[in-house]
Amino acid sequence: MPDEKKLRAVKDNYFHVLEKMKTAAVKSGRNEADVRLMCVTKTVEPEYINAVIDSGADLIGENRVQEYLGKMEFLKLGGIEKHLIGHLQTNKAAKITGQVDMIESVASLKLAREISKASVSKGIVTRCLVEVNIGREESKSGVLPEQLEELLCEMSNLGGIAVKGLMAIPPICENEKEQRQYFSAMYKTFIDMGSKNIDNIDMAVLSMGMSGDYEAAISEGSNIIRVGSAIFGERKYF
Ligand SMILES: *Cc1c(COP(=O)(O)O)cnc(C)c1O
Repeated sequence: MPDEKKLRAVKDNYFHVLEKMKTAAVKSGRNEADVRLMCVTKTVEPEYINAVIDSGADLIGENRVQEYLGKMEFLKLGGIEKHLIGHLQTNKAAKITGQVDMIESVASLKLAREISKASVSKGIVTRCLVEVNIGREESKSGVLPEQLEELLCEMSNLGGIAVKGLMAIPPICENEKEQRQYFSAMYKTFIDMGSKNIDNIDMAVLSMGMSGDYEAAISEGSNIIRVGSAIFGERKYF
């Protein structure tokens, strides 16, 4: 049985984040319609995910292929955009292509080739973002900024893939000023790559900002924020 109190809290949190998101957009002179809220639903049980969908959420993000495939039948996914945002192993690429609308965590040519191969064989085009390791952290996946252009050029030749932009998870920062430096570096990279006009590479989406830093990300040009715990509460794992 769903916990009624928690259901209400999740819905309240969802609207609260929407409000703060709009305020942050307006404050930085941006159009609020240019920023989308992704509800990050990893580890979250279907009834709470459906609660935000009922409240108007139209974009969800999941980390693990197995978890997502296991719970998707319980979700009200009609008209909902689904993105994979977690690290994807090459051997799971075939399983997930066609089941999500975008894969945001592409960080190697090897993975891009697998997604390409699987998509071509299914007769589909998979929209992808390239994940950038903007903080140069050993513990994180993502390409280093100086490797990005080469990867984009290589991906531009692959069938079954449409690159739509970039995704980043900056390091945990002490304060907003530090957060904004990473987000601003990402925005610059995003604009730089767009200006190169690489064939088949569309720099339209910049996915950055999570529960602890989405307002800073919006100020620096994010157009998808990925928010989990601020909506669904703290996770016990992940
Ligand atoms: C878990 C996760 C998020 C959401 O994190 P919160 O801090 O709970 O908002 C966003 N992006 C990615 C890639 C994640 O794995």
